Amino acid sequence: MSLKALESKIVHCESCPRLRIHCQQIAKVKKREFKDDSYWGKPVPGFGDPKAQVLVIGLAPAAHGANRTGRMFTGDNSGLWLYRALYRAGFSNQERSLSWDDGLKLQKVYITAIARCAPPENKPTLEEMQSCSQYLKEEISELKEVRVFLVLGQIALKGLWRVLPEEVRPGRAIPRFIHGLQVPLKDGRLILCSYHPSQQNTFTKILTEPMFDQIFTTLKKRLDGK
Ligand code: SF4
Repeated sequence: MSLKALESKIVHCESCPRLRIHCQQIAKVKKREFKDDSYWGKPVPGFGDPKAQVLVIGLAPAAHGANRTGRMFTGDNSGLWLYRALYRAGFSNQERSLSWDDGLKLQKVYITAIARCAPPENKPTLEEMQSCSQYLKEEISELKEVRVFLVLGQIALKGLWRVLPEEVRPGRAIPRFIHGLQVPLKDGRLILCSYHPSQQNTFTKILTEPMFDQIFTTLKKRLDGK
C-alpha cells in the first residue's frame, strides 16, 4: 500500500468508537481560543518525507492540536517544541507548524503516532493502541529508508516494540525507557528514546531544549555514520 492510500485508510478509520465520538465532540464544542477554526475531527495520518531516514513516533493527536489542524504535532505546545528542534537540526524548512497548509516541509523525517485519534485525557486504551498499530506497521513497511526510530516517551517505545518483528528485536523484554537510551536492532536500525515534549515534561523541565537538541545531535551523528 502506498503512503497516500494508507493516509486515506487512516482518515476513514472508525475502529475505535470511543475515540471517534470524542474527536467529533471536541470538533463541535471547540476551545474558545479556536472558536472560528474549522476542526479536522478525523483520524490524523502521518506527515513528512516519504524518503525519511528518521521516523518520529509520538503518542496521539492533541484535542485542540492535531485534532484541530489535521497534521501531526501541529497547533499545540508539544508541536512547537518538536518542530523548533527539527528546524534547528536542519530537518525542516521552517520553525513553526501552524496549519496543514503553512508550507512546512520536512526533510529525511516522517512523524507519526501510536494512536491517530485524540483520546480523552491523552490516554488511549491498550485495545485502541493495538487496533491502531496496524497503521504504524504499514508505515514502517512503506518507509523503507528509515534508519532511526525516535520514540517520544515510554508508550511510544512500547507501541513500536509491539509492531517490530521478533527477529529484529535485540531481546524478548521491552527495554526500560530512559531519556537518551539507544537500542540497536538486529537489522542495523536504531531506536532512540526521548522524553515526549509534552507540557507536563517541558513546564517541569524534565525535558529542556538543550536536552532535546542533544537527542537530535545523537540522531544526526547516527545518520552520518559517526
Ligand atoms: S485510533 Fe486508530 S484504529 Fe482507532 S479509530 Fe483512530 S485511526 Fe482507527
